[in-house]
Amino acid sequence: MPSPLTGIASRIAAVRARIDDAARAAGRDPQELRLLLATKTQDAETVLDAVSAASSGPGGSRSVLIGENRVQELVAKAPALASLVADGQLEVHMIGHLQSNKVNQVLATASCVQTVDSAALASALSTRCERDGRVLDVMVQVNVSGEDTKAGTRPTEAAALARDVAALPGLRLTGFMTIGALSDDDAVVRAGFARLRAIRDEVVASGAPGTADARELSMGMTGDLELAVAEGATIVRVGTAVFGSRAVPAAH
Ligand SMILES: *Cc1c(COP(=O)(O)O)cnc(C)c1O
Repeated sequence: MPSPLTGIASRIAAVRARIDDAARAAGRDPQELRLLLATKTQDAETVLDAVSAASSGPGGSRSVLIGENRVQELVAKAPALASLVADGQLEVHMIGHLQSNKVNQVLATASCVQTVDSAALASALSTRCERDGRVLDVMVQVNVSGEDTKAGTRPTEAAALARDVAALPGLRLTGFMTIGALSDDDAVVRAGFARLRAIRDEVVASGAPGTADARELSMGMTGDLELAVAEGATIVRVGTAVFGSRAVPAAH
């Protein structure tokens, strides 16, 4: 008998099993973790297939979370996703670098910008949200590895930026995001994730206005999700393990 799960559904189930195993190995409740499907370079039809598979498969009760990297791609797919977003079945997060002059296009579809890495971007987002009478969820992106190809604020500046972001009226700081170090050494990758957790703990413990909700840690991808889960990830962003390898890797 053929498997009742289609290819994409079985790959999502396999990723969820990896996350659950890693959570249990770390003594954590798998329910604390959400899978975000990183949908860059996937067309709208593939994204809709994945969303449908993720919402009906095992563990698929909550709304499905996807992440887009590029404003242009997000805008192109937005019409196909709009009704799912409106029904609360789909949440779209921005997980790629965002320029201040493109915030309007993102706000039409995204419910969270995970990649706030400057006070200028935070201020542009907040101003726009205030004008629209809404509050946007955001995370501060931190470059924990220091690799200069990666976006994100410096670890030493992250807590101060987070407190500034949290104080803005149009934004709600929900946590922190990072991309793990590109290294074969698990200890190096893991130390970066631990650094993000320490920054999160410091900011929440500061008691600064608006920081009480900043509990999310968006970290871990196909190659390093076990390490991220061990260090406290609450959102794991997976592309390759669900969609296969991309022809052209998108820039971080
Ligand atoms: C592409 C991407 C991912 C997913 O990476 P995979 O290795 O394909 O799982 C996660 N986060 C960001 C920011 C990405 O750009």
